[in-house]
Amino acid sequence: MIKNNKIEYTSQEYLEFKDLTEEIEQQVKETKIQNGYVLVYSCHTTLAICVNEKEKGIVKDFKSLMDKMIPRDIYYCHNDLTVRTENLVCQSAKSDCLNGHSHCTHMLMPNSEMIPIIEGKMALGTWQRIFAIELDCERKRTVIVQISGE
Ligand code: ZN
Repeated sequence: MIKNNKIEYTSQEYLEFKDLTEEIEQQVKETKIQNGYVLVYSCHTTLAICVNEKEKGIVKDFKSLMDKMIPRDIYYCHNDLTVRTENLVCQSAKSDCLNGHSHCTHMLMPNSEMIPIIEGKMALGTWQRIFAIELDCERKRTVIVQISGE
């Protein structure tokens, strides 16, 4: 059996850690699948999916690391509208496209996570939670949750 679900929401800000764990647990429970997998997949080029610990210090540490590794205030070709010609879907609000740092960050992070289902439950470790991490500003977001097994 394969069940395709979606989680749709509006993110709040850059580097928001949205915890999807409980919603996905509920979706897995409703399928009654005992053994299989759940695939959690971001439909975006600036939204990452990561399994990690829920702890405020980690979020702060990650923000500080990203500020050092991928600063937002440096030059990005993607943001240079004097040379860029591709994928300018937001002509009326061009600043919405100026997210070179968001794409670069996403390329260093997972776009999906796959979690085993064993005896009807996701086999997450004690501290593991499933996060959608916003790498852009406030955005409408869609995450696919594909649950398969028997
Ligand atoms: Zn972009």
